[in-house]
Amino acid sequence: MSRANPADPPIGSPLYHASASDPRLVPETFWHATGGPVPVGVDPLDRDVVAEVAVIGGGYTGLSAALHLAAEFDVSVRVLEAGPIGWGASGRNGGFCTLGGTARDWAALARRFGREEARAVFEAQRRSVALVAELARAHRIDPRRCGEGEYVVAHKPSRLEGLAREAEFVADLTGERWPVLSREALAERGIALEEAHGALHVPHAFGLHPLRYLRGLCRAAVERGARVHERTPVLAWSRADGVHRLETPGGTVRAAHVLLATNAWTPERLRPELHGRILPVLSAILVTRPLTPGEREAQGWTAPALVADTRELLFYIRLLDDGRILFGARGGTRADGTAFRQRMAWLARRFAERFPALAHVRPEYGWWGFVAFARDRLPHLVRLEGLPRTVAALAYHGSGVAMASWLGRRAAEVVLGRTPDEPVPECFRRPLRRFPLPGLRLPALRVAMALAAARDAWW
Ligand SMILES: Cc1cc2nc3c(=O)[nH]c(=O)nc-3n(C[C@H](O)[C@H](O)[C@H](O)COP(=O)(O)OP(=O)(O)OC[C@H]3O[C@@H](n4cnc5c(N)ncnc54)[C@H](O)[C@@H]3O)c2cc1C
Repeated sequence: MSRANPADPPIGSPLYHASASDPRLVPETFWHATGGPVPVGVDPLDRDVVAEVAVIGGGYTGLSAALHLAAEFDVSVRVLEAGPIGWGASGRNGGFCTLGGTARDWAALARRFGREEARAVFEAQRRSVALVAELARAHRIDPRRCGEGEYVVAHKPSRLEGLAREAEFVADLTGERWPVLSREALAERGIALEEAHGALHVPHAFGLHPLRYLRGLCRAAVERGARVHERTPVLAWSRADGVHRLETPGGTVRAAHVLLATNAWTPERLRPELHGRILPVLSAILVTRPLTPGEREAQGWTAPALVADTRELLFYIRLLDDGRILFGARGGTRADGTAFRQRMAWLARRFAERFPALAHVRPEYGWWGFVAFARDRLPHLVRLEGLPRTVAALAYHGSGVAMASWLGRRAAEVVLGRTPDEPVPECFRRPLRRFPLPGLRLPALRVAMALAAARDAWW
C-alpha cells in the first residue's frame, strides 16, 4: 500500500468536511483550558519499532486497553494517536459517565435479543460505570467527579408515561427501582427547566472532567510500560508474513496484533475493510461563564446534576463545579466552519429558551465532535473480516465515557485470544456490518433526523 501524503492523514469519514477530522486542528474546549498538565513521555514515533499489539487511537478505548495490556499481561504495546492526547471525543465530550453505549431502549433490546441478553447488556453497562471510578481510584486520577446520578427529563407529559414504563421494565429486568420524579420534585432538587415535566433518576452515573480522566489514564498506561505516541497518524496499513505494518510519518510499527480504537473518527480510507461501517453524527456543546449564586437561584438550577431529555435528538445539561452550565445537543449534517458558527448560534438560542432567567449569559466556549453509530445501534467488540489478528472496539452512540473504558479493557483480553474476565454481551460480538449504500449515509441521516425531530415535537 502506498504511503499517503502526510499533509492529509486519513482520519475519519469522507462524508464530512475535512477540517472536522484534521488532527492538527485542536478543539478549543473548556476541558482543554482546564485539563491540568499534559501527558509526558508521549512523543511522536520517530523510528521503526516492533510491538506485540499496536493500538490505533488514543482515546478511552485505546488507553484503557493499553493500560490493561501493559499492567496485567506485560505485553509490549504501542498506542498511535493522530492528534495530541485528547484530540478525539474522549477529550471533548460532556463528561456524563453513565449507563450507555447502545441506541436501543431496554424493551427493544429484550424484544430483539431476549431478556437474558438485555440483562447482560445492563450488567456490562453497570460494570462500565463502576470501572471508571475504580480506575480513577487505582491510578490516583482526580477526574473532578461532580454530580451523582442522571436525570432523564420528560420534555413532554406523554414522555413521562414512557419513563414510568421504562422504570417498570428495568425493575422487572434487574430488580432495581429507579424513582420517577414529578416536575415539582425535580424543582425541589434544584433542576427547574421550562419544559421539564418530570424525570427518571438513574443512579448509576456521575459527572467528570473528561480530559483529566483521559490524561490520567494515559499517565497510568505509560507508567505501567505502554508506549504512547501522540501526533502519530497511521497513514498506511498493510500485512505481510503474518505481521501488520503500520506506517506513520516518523516510523513504522510492526505488530502481531492490531486494536482499532478509532470510534467516530474511524479512518475509512485507510483500509477498504473499514469503509462504510460507522456513521459519525455531530454533537455540539457550549459552556457559559461561571454563574453567580443569584443567577442560579433565579433560574432554579442549583444542583450539579447530569440531565438529558427524552428527545431522540437529545439535549444534555450539567452544572459544573465552578458554577458554569454545559449545554449540548446532537444534530446537523454539515461540519465546515460556517456550519459550526450556525450550529453554535442555534445552540445558544435553545439555551436561552430553556433558561429564560439566563438568556443574557453568552457562551464562553463552544465546540463540537462526532459520536459513532453502527448499523445495528450496538457497541461492537469484533474481529474484522479480511484483517486477521485485528480487533475493533467501537460504536458507543454518544455514551462512551464508561463503555469505551470497559470495552477497551475487554478488547485487551480478546486481542490476545483470552476469554474476557467479565462477560461481553453476545450482541456486542455481532459482525460490524457495512451500512447499505454507504455513500448515501448523510442523506439517510438527514431524513432520519427530520423524522426524529417530528416525533420529538409531536409525541
Ligand atoms: C461533543 C460530544 C459529547 C459527548 N458526550 C458524552 C458524554 O457526556 N458521555 C458519554 O458517555 N459519551 C459522550 N460522548 C461520546 C464519547 O466521548 C465517546 O464515545 C468516547 O470518547 C469514545 O472513545 P474512543 O477512545 O473510542 O474514541 P476517541 O476518543 O474519539 O478516540 C479515537 C481516536 O482515534 C484517532 N485516530 C483515528 N484515525 C487514526 C489514524 N489513522 N491514526 C492514528 N489515530 C487515529 C483519533 O485521532 C481519535 O483521537 C460525546 C462525544 C462528543 C463528540
